[in-house]
Amino acid sequence: MKLQDIKGLGPKKKEYLNNLHITSVKDLIYHYPFRYEDRRNPKTIEEAYGKEDALLHLSLLSSPSTRYLGGNKNITTIRATDGKYKIELVWFNQPYILNNFKNVEKVYVFGKVENYKGQLKITNPIISKTLGNELGKIVPVYNVTKGLTQNDLRNFIGQSLQKMKFKENLPKDILESNNLMDYREAIINIHFPNSMSLLQKAIERLKFQELFLYQLYLDMNFSQINKEGISFKIVPEVDEFINKLPFELTSAQERVVGEILEDMKSPFIMNRLLQGDVGSGKTIVAAIAILNAYYNGYQSVLMAPTEILATQHYEDLRDMFLGYGIRVGILKGSLSKGKKEKIVEDIKNGNIDVVVSTHAVLEDNVTFENIGLVITDEQHRFGVKQRAILTGKGNVDTLVMSATPIPRTLALAKYGSLDISIIDELPKGRKNIETYAVGMDYEKRIMNFLIKHVNEGRQCYIVCPLIEESENLNLTSVEELYERLNETYFRNIKTGLIHGALNPKHKDEIMESFIKNETKILFSTTVIEVGVNVPNANTMVIYNADRFGLSQLHQLRGRVGRGNYQSYCILLNDSKSQIARQRMRIMESTNDGFIIAKKDLELRGSGDVIGFRQSGEEQFKLVNLFEDIEMLNKIQSITRDILDNNKLESVEYRSLKDELNSYSKDIESQIIFN
Ligand code: ADP
Ligand code: MG
Repeated sequence: MKLQDIKGLGPKKKEYLNNLHITSVKDLIYHYPFRYEDRRNPKTIEEAYGKEDALLHLSLLSSPSTRYLGGNKNITTIRATDGKYKIELVWFNQPYILNNFKNVEKVYVFGKVENYKGQLKITNPIISKTLGNELGKIVPVYNVTKGLTQNDLRNFIGQSLQKMKFKENLPKDILESNNLMDYREAIINIHFPNSMSLLQKAIERLKFQELFLYQLYLDMNFSQINKEGISFKIVPEVDEFINKLPFELTSAQERVVGEILEDMKSPFIMNRLLQGDVGSGKTIVAAIAILNAYYNGYQSVLMAPTEILATQHYEDLRDMFLGYGIRVGILKGSLSKGKKEKIVEDIKNGNIDVVVSTHAVLEDNVTFENIGLVITDEQHRFGVKQRAILTGKGNVDTLVMSATPIPRTLALAKYGSLDISIIDELPKGRKNIETYAVGMDYEKRIMNFLIKHVNEGRQCYIVCPLIEESENLNLTSVEELYERLNETYFRNIKTGLIHGALNPKHKDEIMESFIKNETKILFSTTVIEVGVNVPNANTMVIYNADRFGLSQLHQLRGRVGRGNYQSYCILLNDSKSQIARQRMRIMESTNDGFIIAKKDLELRGSGDVIGFRQSGEEQFKLVNLFEDIEMLNKIQSITRDILDNNKLESVEYRSLKDELNSYSKDIESQIIFN
């Protein structure tokens, strides 16, 4: 069945449907209502008053009368009662009401009962002599767009459901053991539910289907379990390297290093997520794995989401590996054409052992002599697909590092099957970052506080959400602030300004100067959010702090407290909102990223917090991964079972397999690179 087979759906409407991303009948029936109107049980005027639209059963006190107002305008009114209260029904420009409801005694109407200057009124209600057509049932309400009405969609979808051939896509045993409604019934009931409980069952079934297909797709395509990989040896240089570090590894670091080395040693591919709060020391763990790969004769990639972070990792690794003969190179978009060509050539010929890179390493022209290990830092910025491209370049071990704590079940849903290592301990001697939320009237005191730290040899960050002045947002811009504070407080202090709109080379120079402790105060937007590591910096001031999410504030704050100095984070804002106050209190009360992430979820509900939307992998219509975590748990054991027992090849799973094929095509055309 095609869209043009639907009656009343001409080329114009077809175009409007395209604006809703509906280009097929399948899209149409998956265009679920976003809410429903319960037009089943009549209410009294008293019950309906001041509430949402409701169904009323009324006796008419007058025949309709129409007044003409000049132009083409007219008003039709009827007076009616429910036996207790009188009410006026009013229609603008619908004079046909006049003819249809002459000499009628009782009607059903659906609309909103309001009080207009002492008179109870319903404006433009739906009116009918009988129940059955528009009234008397649960009616879907759709997201529409210009040129399409609710009735268009109800009509188009209604016709589709009548004419369509439904094909159950879930296997019988799964339907039965999970007590799921069948496909046809579910699709019909999600659009035109016969009762609220059937609607619930329909939603449950379709949600299950969304999650199930998604997880099965991930497991099939990204699970590296039992895939043959490289058996690295664990070389003695690893211990030497660790012993020569200027600090001792924390026991959590030792444990995760052990887990990673074991994975490298095993004949199967490593696919591991390394979680650790900001400042927990993930980089050194990565360095150890890279060193081990090197002594086994393999190249490694360390991929970072920003050029600033890549540059910093590059410099860190270069310094750490000094004297080991390990050749570290950096590949990033801002390199000149000549330099880029040179490094691509060196990677190909094996003249470089460790490539630190941004997305640039994903490009087609990058090939390796002998790649063995891929590490991505701050993984939430990258999508599954991107990772797949890299791993596709060889049968390599992968390690994903993230500071964003997510539950295991969610990690499985986000990355496909993987193992998780957690650094749940900060290096010794770290002091809590003292955090204070204050109003703008404290600015002078705060600036003097910064100057005092600079005079003691420390460095500071000043963070601001906006780059330039903006007319519609009443926010401080970092450029404006930079000028103002330089002229007032910081005349004798070297300051720098960095933000995303600067060219990468310029950014590098500014970071370089801050890392070298030439620049004392760095003004910045959130470009420093991830990874930047300058242990001498001990104070951060965040303007308009109410504008940031909690997890983002935590990431930002994590730029200080990296050395041995007592560190401070000042959250400046004048927000009076209850929720903003609450969030500031949370930041003041804890330094624990896991607690903060949890509170962030509670306060925000859910959703894009961990970057599902960012990575373009949010293709759920009904599922909310945080709320549906229990269902996800159940589904993960089902998908495992299917794959372990090769069930997809059985006859009963035939239509599931077909569905998965079309699902893969859809999802792969949707994934956006960013
Ligand atoms: P993150 O986990 O946020 O990426 P980093 O790897 O950048 O953290 O480490 C933060 C800082 O802590 C770095 O300066 C690093 O050298 C230092 N560090 C890492 N491990 C230890 C340790 N065991 N003892 C002391 N300092 C450490
Ligand atoms: Mg890091």
